[in-house]
Amino acid sequence: MNWIFINGEYVRQEDAKISIYDHSFLFGDGIFEGIRAYSGNVFRLREHVLRLFDSAKALLLPVPYTVEQIENIVLETLSRNKLETAYIRLILTRGEGGGFSLDPFICKDPQFICITVAFDAFPEKYYNSGIEIVTVPTRRNRADVLSPQVKSLNYLNNVLVKIEAINAGVQDGLMLNTEGFVAEGTTQNVFFVKNGIICTPPCSQGALEGITRNAVMELAAGMGITVKEQTVTRHDIYTADEVFMTGTAAEIIGVVKVDGRVIGNGTPGEYTRRLYQTYKMFVLGSEIHTAQH
Ligand code: PMP
Repeated sequence: MNWIFINGEYVRQEDAKISIYDHSFLFGDGIFEGIRAYSGNVFRLREHVLRLFDSAKALLLPVPYTVEQIENIVLETLSRNKLETAYIRLILTRGEGGGFSLDPFICKDPQFICITVAFDAFPEKYYNSGIEIVTVPTRRNRADVLSPQVKSLNYLNNVLVKIEAINAGVQDGLMLNTEGFVAEGTTQNVFFVKNGIICTPPCSQGALEGITRNAVMELAAGMGITVKEQTVTRHDIYTADEVFMTGTAAEIIGVVKVDGRVIGNGTPGEYTRRLYQTYKMFVLGSEIHTAQH
């Protein structure tokens, strides 16, 4: 049985329901977070919850709990489901508006949902062999439209990128911003390595400030590697020694082919592998939040 936290209580999955009049269903009016737990350690739980609060603030969406209460809900949901290694999804909807009105201020009952599922890792072959990506036609939504920093329930931009990647027969898409510079992947940040320096686009170029991205930048700096945030072109990617993508679900995945160009020697490179190994140890050991069983 999978326990879900919704609307102030823990219910069975089959009883976890929201209204068809919820603004999240009608308009995508809500936000979410994806988090991982590793052997009881919830990786960077505080950062994820704070990012949820930032998304909520941008949408003037009231959060019905404090940071600490949400952290406890996450730990309690894991504990009730006897999960230590899991994927956690937090969702906050605007709630019911009693009709089809767009007015968010008549919605008085935001729904806060916490779902946990057993999740260990993506198939090993992705890490051993790396993945292929293509540049997709869909561009990253501009920060002056719907900011990419808002993890809203309107993820259609990313859904379109996923469709384009699947149609091209590859695992992920490289999304450019409207100026044609590299922004990110569907749900991953993008890095490249050239001459021993690691580069990634700044968030102002359309990249979400990924929590894995930040952790990787810290780890790399701690390993004595120079890390730069700079405007990234497709040329930088094509001619890189290594390319990798980062995200909560994917962790650190090597990219070995982009738009038909083989990257490096066509296998995940040394920096990618070292960072992946370091990250795998880091997620297990360094965090203070532990699920109590
Ligand atoms: N970009 C987008 C658009 C995402 O949805 C995600 C996943 N949250 C990421 C990047 C990676 O962010 P994180 O490392 O925080 O999972």
